[in-house]
Amino acid sequence: MSNKNSFPIVTLKRGREESLLRRHPWVFSGAVASVSGEVTAGATVLVRSAEGLQLGFGAWSPVSQIRIRMWGYGDSPAPDAALFRDRLRNAAALRSLVIDASVTDAYRVVFSEADGLPGLIVDRYADWLVCQFLSAGVEHWREAILDALREEFPGLRLYERSDEESRGKEGMEPRSGDLGDGQPDSAILIKENGMRLFVDVVTGHKTGLYLDQRDNRATLREFAAGKDVLNCFSYTGGFAVAALTGGAASVLDCDASADALALARENTAMCLHASAAYFQEQGDVFSVLRSFRDARKTYDIIVLDPPKFAHTAAAVNKAARGYKDINLLAFKLLRPGGLLFTFSCSGHIVPPLFRKIVADAAVDAGVDAVVLREMTQSGDHPAALSVPESLYLKGLLCKKM
Ligand code: SAH
Repeated sequence: MSNKNSFPIVTLKRGREESLLRRHPWVFSGAVASVSGEVTAGATVLVRSAEGLQLGFGAWSPVSQIRIRMWGYGDSPAPDAALFRDRLRNAAALRSLVIDASVTDAYRVVFSEADGLPGLIVDRYADWLVCQFLSAGVEHWREAILDALREEFPGLRLYERSDEESRGKEGMEPRSGDLGDGQPDSAILIKENGMRLFVDVVTGHKTGLYLDQRDNRATLREFAAGKDVLNCFSYTGGFAVAALTGGAASVLDCDASADALALARENTAMCLHASAAYFQEQGDVFSVLRSFRDARKTYDIIVLDPPKFAHTAAAVNKAARGYKDINLLAFKLLRPGGLLFTFSCSGHIVPPLFRKIVADAAVDAGVDAVVLREMTQSGDHPAALSVPESLYLKGLLCKKM
C-alpha cells in the first residue's frame, strides 16, 4: 500500500491548493481539475496541485460538495489501520488533559477535523462510546476505526448514532444501533463535574447530551446561589441541574419537547433540595418569553441556548433576527443586576457578529449591559486553528446594569 502509484490521483485547478497548504482538510468539488484512476466512495486518493506538487492523501466523497477530506499533508503516508490507532491515542491523550475523570465520565472522545478524523464523532457516556460516521472516508474505514476504538478503550461498549443530516450530504443512509455490544438502557446515568444526569443515547439529540456546554454549565453553577433562573431551550435540563446544584432558589425549564422535559424532570429530581423550586413550561420559547414579558415576570438569571438557527451562510440574516429577538426579550425579563447566559451554536454566526446581535438586542431593550465572560465549547471539543469551522459555540455572560 505504500506505493503511492496504486492510488487514484486527483489534480487540483491552478491556485486551489491554497487551503491544503494552510492545513485545512477540505477540497471542494469546484477545485478538482481531473481524476486519474478509479475512485470509489471513501477510498484514498493522492492529491496534487496543478504544478504536480504532492499535497497529501485524502478520502474521496463522490456526492458531497466537500469532494475530498484530507488524512494528512505533503509527504505524509497513506492512511492505514495504524493511522487510526495513532489518532485515537492522541485524541484520548488530549481528553485526559481537559477532563477530570474522577468527576466526569461523559465527554467527546473524538471531534472530527480537530482530531484529524474528518467526519468521525465519538462521545463517551459512562461505559458506552457512541459513534457517528458522518463522512464517506470514515465510513470506508469503519471496521479499522471500530477495532482501534476497542483497542484504545478496552471494556467500553460501542453503539452507533450515525443519523445526522450531514450523512445524507455524503450520499449515505442514516444508520444507528447495535455494534455488537447490545442496546444501551434508555437512560444511562453519567456524571459531569460531579453532577448526575440521565442521558438517552438511543433517541436523544446528537449522541444524547450537549457535552459542549459542560464548562458553561459549571460557570452557571458558580453564579446561581439564591437566584431565580429561567432556562430557555432546556433540553434535558443540564443547565437546570447546574443551577440547582449551585444553590438556585428556583429554576424554570422551557422547551418545546415533551420528551426532553420528561427527562429534565428526572434529572432535576436527583438534585432538588427542599429549599429550591423547580418548574417547567412546554412551548415555543419565542412566545413564552413574550407572554412572560406581558405578565411582567422577572428573573435573576436567564439562559438562552437555542438550537442552530443558521444552517447555511444564506440563512444568517434570518437567524440573526431570531437571536436578536430572544436576547431582547431576555434583557427585558432580567432584573437589574441580572445575568444573561446567551449562546449560539451556528458556525455561520461568527463571534463578532454574535456580539453585535446581543449588543443590538440590549440597545433595543433600552438596557445597559456588560460582558463578564466570553464562553465557548468545552476543551473536549477542541477547535483546530487551521479549521475555523471547528469553533462553532459562542456564548456571552452579560450583566444587566
Ligand atoms: N441547553 C441544553 C441544550 C439545548 S438544545 C443543554 O445544555 O443540554 C436546544 C433545545 O431547544 C432542544 O431541546 C429543542 O427541543 C429545543 N427547541 C428548539 N426550538 C425551540 C423553540 N422554538 N422553543 C422551545 N424549545 C425549542
